[in-house]
This record gives sequence, C-alpha cells and structure tokens, in this order.
Amino acid sequence: MKEKFIPLSIPNFNGKELEYVTNVVKDAWVSTGGAEIQKFEEVFAKYVKTDLACAVQSGTAGLHLAMILAGVTYGDEVIVPALTFIAAVNPVKYCGAEPVFMDCNDFLCLDVNKLEEFIKEECDFIDDKLINKKSHRHIKAVVAVHIFGNMVDMDSLITLGKQYNFKIIEDATEALGTYEKSTGKFAGTIGDFGVYSFNGNKIITTGGGGMLVANNPDDVKHAKYLSTQAKDDLVYFVHNEIGYNYRMTNLQAALGLAQFEQLEEFIKIKEINYNKYLDAGLNLLPFDKNIRSNRWFYSLVTDKRDELIKYMNENQIQTRPIWKLINTLKPYLNAQSYKIERAKKYYDHIVNIPCSTNLTDKEIERVIKTIKNFDEAK
Ligand SMILES: *Cc1c(COP(=O)(O)O)cnc(C)c1O
Repeated sequence: MKEKFIPLSIPNFNGKELEYVTNVVKDAWVSTGGAEIQKFEEVFAKYVKTDLACAVQSGTAGLHLAMILAGVTYGDEVIVPALTFIAAVNPVKYCGAEPVFMDCNDFLCLDVNKLEEFIKEECDFIDDKLINKKSHRHIKAVVAVHIFGNMVDMDSLITLGKQYNFKIIEDATEALGTYEKSTGKFAGTIGDFGVYSFNGNKIITTGGGGMLVANNPDDVKHAKYLSTQAKDDLVYFVHNEIGYNYRMTNLQAALGLAQFEQLEEFIKIKEINYNKYLDAGLNLLPFDKNIRSNRWFYSLVTDKRDELIKYMNENQIQTRPIWKLINTLKPYLNAQSYKIERAKKYYDHIVNIPCSTNLTDKEIERVIKTIKNFDEAK
C-alpha cells in the first residue's frame, strides 16, 4: 500500500477562515479597500506591541518598501546574509543598490561579530557615512533575517548601526511570534523597519501577504501611501510620488484575521512537535535559549543530505535542503562577499523536515522512523 504523502509545511485552516472570507465575498469588499485590512493591521500591531502596521501584498513588497524608506538608492550598498531566501536580497537590486554578503552564526542568522570585523577591516567611516573601501560605495542598511524563527543578535547590531549610521531592516518573515525573553521585544520591532510574511508556508498565511512595521510611525504612514499608488487626491487622481500597487486586499486580511486568532496555538504546536523529534533522538539544531522562538522550521543535521532527501522522498515524505547560498547564484556572482564559512558548512549539512502545525502524531512517528531506518541502512 502506498503511504500518504507528508508535506514539509502547509497551511492549517481549522479556525474561522471560511466564515470570515465568506463574509467579505458576500459584502463584495474583496480588493484593497475594506474594513478587514485595518482590523488586521490593528490586531497585528497590538500583538507585536507597536503603534502602527501596514498590510501589504507580500513580504517581498514589504521589504522593497522598507528599503525605499531606509533611503537605499542607486549606487548604495546593503549588507545581507548569504544564507537566506533570495527575497531578502532582491529588493536591494530593485532600488539600484548592491548587496554585500555576510556569514552566519550557529543559529543560522547574520554573524554580527563578523560584520563588525568587516566594518573595521574593510570600511572607512567618513562624514557620518560608512564607506566600503573596495567599492567606495555608501553602506546604507543591513538586512537582518531571523532565519527559521531564530533571531539575529539585535543588541549588538543596533549598537553597530548607531555607531556607523546605517539603517536596520529586520526580515522577520519567518519569525512572527519570536521575541527576546529579557525584554519581551518581538522580532521585527527592534530595528528601523520590520517585515513579516503570510505566504502559504509561513506560520500563518493569507495566501500571500505581508506586514510592515517601523520604529518611526511616520514611516508606516508613508509605506501605506506608497503601497496605494501614492495617491494624494482620491477624486482628481493627484499623485506626488512614484507609488506601488502593494496594498493587501480585504480578502487576504479576512483570512489573516482568522489565522491570527490561532497564532499562539500554532507556536505551541511547533514547540511540542519539535520536542517530539528531539526526544526521539533526531539531531536537530537548537533554537537560542534567550528567545521565545516560533520554531517555524526544524533543521536536521546530517552528513548525507542528498541521500536522505531522496530516501525520504521515496517514502512519501517531503524534506528539503537549506537555500543555496545567494552569493553563489547567477544574479549575484559578481557581488562582494566577506569570509563566508559557516554558511557553507550549514548549507551542506541541513535538511528541513516536516513541521506543519496540522501534523498528526502518527505522521510524526513515521517521519522519525523513516529517518532512523535511513541512518541504520547507511
Ligand atoms: C518568505 C520569505 C520572504 C518573502 O516573503 P513573501 O511573502 O513570500 O514575499 C522573504 N524573506 C525570507 C527570509 C522569507 O522566508
């Protein structure tokens, strides 16, 4: 008998999704106007303890807006991690700027110590500007990606940012619900800008969607303006800036409100399932003890990455390697990178295993048994 397929990470719709979405369809408020968008923004802002939030079409759109608002423009440079999803890097190019790639730490997040080393060895600080000695470009911002629900060392990064006058854009697309235990501050709310994603595989989903928050509430207002075509007059179509069609729709927001009611429950399930894998003896990377992580993705460490993925696939279980390092991909082959070492090691050794919040105990047991069978056979 062929066993049922176990996917890596899929949506969990056991709440009021259908009810809320049906209501907005009945009302015909399905597009970028409508009350649910604002409601979703309010609920979201309250949860991450910030004043304002701007709902957008995707995390990528949110990152693009954050980059614009950080003042990144043609000829600038932006520090990015090599180990991440490419959507964290592409917005740098959308703005006509160039990325410089950095290594990761043992939680897979940007290595801030190495970034400091890069700044001291490879940069000048002139007229309040951080200048890359090699390219002579102005480094305007750092994209801090909170990988798999972990968290970048924000304390050290903020200190560096103040010292060298660069903006910090937190890519919290994978880390909704993650916070620092000592301060209670949520991932995404510590830097100048924070961006979240509600893509289908994220901890909650709106089909596709995102949210932008910022330290300065005026930036959030400006993001809202830019995301709605920068329209100043609704009747006469006066536009005073180049805008974008990046606003979240009411349909997405309705789904988001239903998902949001279950977020804390999902985070609990992520922890319980992570511990089940751990208790069974699987070699998973830990999450930082100093944070409450949302434990979005689980990272199994193995010497036989490709063989394991193939074996799991033959047994109807979806797994995947971590992303190919962005500095090794075609669009970025000419970009500068600084001592990428750990990221290479982790790229070679990590396999992400099923982590959906609707996994059954039986499915989890099957994943564990299949990995053990693989280990024994090798
Ligand atoms: C998902 C993701 C994004 C992009 O979010 P979308 O909503 O899919 O556009 C950006 N960065 C990282 C690290 C992500 O995982």
